[in-house]
Amino acid sequence: MAQSRQDASPRTAMVTGAASGIGRAIASLLSARGWQVHICDADRDAIARMRDENPAIEASVCDVCDAMRAAQTVERMLEKTGGRLDLLVNNAGTSGMNAPLEEIDPDDWRRTLDVNVNGTFNFLRAAIPVMKRAGTGTIVNIASTAALFGYPNRSPYAAAKWALIGITKTLAMELGPHNIRVNAICPGSVEGPRIDGVIERDARTRGVAPDAVRRLYEGQVSMRRFVSADDIARMCAFLASDDAGMVSGQIVAVDGHTETLSNPL
Ligand code: NAD
Repeated sequence: MAQSRQDASPRTAMVTGAASGIGRAIASLLSARGWQVHICDADRDAIARMRDENPAIEASVCDVCDAMRAAQTVERMLEKTGGRLDLLVNNAGTSGMNAPLEEIDPDDWRRTLDVNVNGTFNFLRAAIPVMKRAGTGTIVNIASTAALFGYPNRSPYAAAKWALIGITKTLAMELGPHNIRVNAICPGSVEGPRIDGVIERDARTRGVAPDAVRRLYEGQVSMRRFVSADDIARMCAFLASDDAGMVSGQIVAVDGHTETLSNPL
């Protein structure tokens, strides 16, 4: 029988890097569906803008790379939820440089790994004991289609996102016996300012116009278009729901089916 919750109090979620983009869409959807949502983000101004629109969502300024701040952020949430943390979404990420590996700046390499991997570790480390004590919980790590393919000129990002798959698979095994599910979502290119920046940088590396890179990216996807942040949010909400009560250790692409990331122009 599915192990669904019996009590009627709202479920609680922590979404990292959620003042804008995909994280914001996830936080907003969960909030609209009755979850008590807490977010963190390193960008104070973006948090203020988000809270103006959705005051029901609690927010903390936190750089996920700061382990102590991450632990304090989870603590602060627990004070408000009476110790409950049903869902952790590790969404905060950064796309890193676009260049052949030998031209990658070491500081950029470290920062890309730090935000995507160590930031995820910091929040997992704070959240898992809470979920274990409760005997229930769900974790969703936001990876990327960069975690499914080789990705020329994006080695820091690919390394970071492949690491999240290793963490997801391993944690599903460590935490399954504790009734905690762990999954990853691999978004394809999401319409919005972030992918515009990625396209700009890729176009500069290739020495072509941004429009040509956009068409290339769209052509690499069987459905020939980018996904939306709301597409990712709906999958996250599904994975967090009782309908996904036996879904764990899965790497779910929401991408319109990426065929490759390595077509030359
Ligand atoms: P975004 O840049 O629009 O938003 C990211 C948010 O995270 C921002 O509000 C930013 O301030 C915050 N953030 C960045 N570094 C942080 C840190 N160290 N600590 C706390 N907050 C931090 O990005 P997005 O497109 O919404 O991406 C969200 C996640 O989805 C990332 O992990 C990204 O790698 C992944 N992803 C995005 C795409 C895409 O096309 N946009 C595709 C695949 C995967």
